Amino acid sequence: MKWKIKRKKRFGKKEFFSRAAFGVAAAAALCGGCGWRQGGTGEPGQGIAPWRSTDVAMGTVVQQTVYAEDGGAAEEFSRQAMALLARLEREEISWRLDSSEAARINVSAGREEGILLSEDMDRLLEACLELWERSEGAFDVTLGPVARLWDIDRWAASSAAQKAAQAEEGDVSQSAQEAGFRVPSEEEIAKALRLCGSGRLRTEGQGPARLYLPEGMQLDLGAVGKGYAMSKLYALLEESPAVTGAVLSLGGSILTYGDRPDGGPWRVGIVDPFDTSASIGTLELEGQWCVSTSGDYERYVEAEGRRYHHILDPKTGAPAVCGVRGATVLMKDGLLSDGLSTACFLLGPEKGMALAGQYGAEVLFVLADGRVELSEGMKRYYASQP
Ligand code: AMP
Ligand code: MG
Repeated sequence: MKWKIKRKKRFGKKEFFSRAAFGVAAAAALCGGCGWRQGGTGEPGQGIAPWRSTDVAMGTVVQQTVYAEDGGAAEEFSRQAMALLARLEREEISWRLDSSEAARINVSAGREEGILLSEDMDRLLEACLELWERSEGAFDVTLGPVARLWDIDRWAASSAAQKAAQAEEGDVSQSAQEAGFRVPSEEEIAKALRLCGSGRLRTEGQGPARLYLPEGMQLDLGAVGKGYAMSKLYALLEESPAVTGAVLSLGGSILTYGDRPDGGPWRVGIVDPFDTSASIGTLELEGQWCVSTSGDYERYVEAEGRRYHHILDPKTGAPAVCGVRGATVLMKDGLLSDGLSTACFLLGPEKGMALAGQYGAEVLFVLADGRVELSEGMKRYYASQP
């Protein structure tokens, strides 16, 4: 499949993503065994002590553990991180807020003049289109009409609030039950699907391009939004010399950064899809990594004995039935790890591992029959739960 987007690339991917080393992933991060507490708890004046906080941003729970040489600097970083996420949501990513670029792009659908992309959006969409091509169309950010039809974002909002409330009580496991859920009809799905397809996007010019979104098409950046935010958080960390180490968790995305004061590795737990209050194992990571998990337990509705989750198969326009419960991707780059986890979930172990390999990423699958499959390189970092 060839993209219909044809232009000279002004930015090499390396150039763009060299600033994008962050993490994304499992719904529960284990920070060396530390517990999460609501509100900030800094311990200034006691050498390197973690600042821990739990907040809500971008429709999900944000948990931060930040080490700095003084507690004030860690708290200040945490505050700046929340301000950054609020700005990204408001100005760039959220399709719900008229003020955002994603919303303006969606409003431009069908307009003859198209819309001039910002440089960041240009790069983000370029990465998404490459993933679409390499995943043979499984990963597709133009599925907005189908996602709206299933009302996925309403489930997300609800589960985020639930997560936040539970996190406040020290329990980040959650389930999502939605009142008023309705399975769309086949006709509705077919009609919405006809409006989608990354292959129908057109651009003109370069760095940044003008995008022509076909009538009725809507972007849904839910599969990469948090990874993109992680890239920005990583840049903020790099600009914060007082911060010596951090674990930032944003929904299914986790970024580890720097060092733990005790010299040990960062530990990121991988949620057990069969019991989301537990983990199946732990990734032990040194320094900066991104861990991104896509799972059918993250946002879902159960109706008539069936689970409807938020990862859609572009071929059917319905939640993917692919024998996978969770896919976790480990790599340096946040945006790509987020996108790849979604793509790997859809593709399953064989194709998913091949795709991850193209990006130098490692991947772990939890399958519907309970088996765990890991790429060869992932075995170096993974310790299963004893
Ligand atoms: P994630 O949790 O990162 O796997 O992202 C899932 C989100 O991505 C969903 O809530 C939708 O907003 C969006 N999405 C669903 N299906 C797809 C797909 N096939 N390709 C790209 N994005 C998708
Ligand atoms: Mg994703």
